[in-house]
Amino acid sequence: MAPSLRNSHNTINVNNLLLIADITEKVNDEYSGVVNKINAAITLINKSGIDTSTCSCLRKTRNNHCDSFTYFNEKLPKYSIHQIKRISEKKVNTLIDNGTLSIMEVPMNFELNLGQQLQVESYQQDKPILNDTGIVEHLDSLTFPLHFFDYETFASAVPKLDGTSPHAQIPFQVSIHTLKKDGTLIHFEYLADKLEMPNQMVSEMQEFTGLNGTFVSWHASFEISRNRSMMGWIPEYCPYLEYINSHMFDLEKIFIADYMDYRFKGSSSIKKVLPVLVPKFSYAALQVQDGTMAMDIWGRMVLDESFNDDIDQTKNNLLEYCKLDTLAMVEIYHSLKQLID
Ligand code: SF4
Repeated sequence: MAPSLRNSHNTINVNNLLLIADITEKVNDEYSGVVNKINAAITLINKSGIDTSTCSCLRKTRNNHCDSFTYFNEKLPKYSIHQIKRISEKKVNTLIDNGTLSIMEVPMNFELNLGQQLQVESYQQDKPILNDTGIVEHLDSLTFPLHFFDYETFASAVPKLDGTSPHAQIPFQVSIHTLKKDGTLIHFEYLADKLEMPNQMVSEMQEFTGLNGTFVSWHASFEISRNRSMMGWIPEYCPYLEYINSHMFDLEKIFIADYMDYRFKGSSSIKKVLPVLVPKFSYAALQVQDGTMAMDIWGRMVLDESFNDDIDQTKNNLLEYCKLDTLAMVEIYHSLKQLID
């Protein structure tokens, strides 16, 4: 049985957080490999010139590429075969062996799954491929008011709040844009000043939305999981959180199955979809660029005593980021409605 993390005074017993073991032998086993890699890197650095026309990752899938991939493969077409959604390394290699680097050149009879085929078709026909019926069915299933919402969360390896586990994602921020049937759009936002159980946030959310309408999120499994965690931490809000989860619609779903555009570059991320559907909206000018950055900045603001950035400006940057995420969903929704109406 694992030793208890708490002592008789109910405070954390730090010694039981760590397991101390002698791993000298394992380190020695690794040592020569690391030395070889260091020597290879030094040899590379000392070369007077290196081949910048391509690199070995050309034959790997894009998950293996580093930020320098396009620098080292500048002759690669803008829409290269690597952007085909979840294409396997084996297929990348088969295409390269046949001289195919651009999505434009992928033969019609090349074996791809349906989503991949649609992506290739979209590029080759230079237009999005839509399943109008599927989109209509999805949008018709929603009940007004529509609450477009998004959480930002904080996580740490060592739990900082009683009742939470390592890496538990604790919501500290939410943005909700509520679209009423008459077209009115209203906004609610909450940003916590300290790390705490999200009672206050959920209470204010409930007051704003009530238990009605459909909650719309992007990649909703994230919000659903956060709601499940909160049901355990703050059970008094179970009815509300259960309502959200049972009236949830994942807007991303449309861009996985019913709307394919090669300009999404094989992704259904809101950051790839938004600039194509609503070019006037952009994340580019924001100080906070993604959820990881939001977590890092907020965590330092509330937990790091040496944080000396402008607090008001930092809060504003966080609010602007989360607000754009939910406004982007509203704009994408309007854009879909225009397409099918
Ligand atoms: S993609 Fe990056 S890591 Fe991979 S070979 Fe090219 S430069 Fe190296």
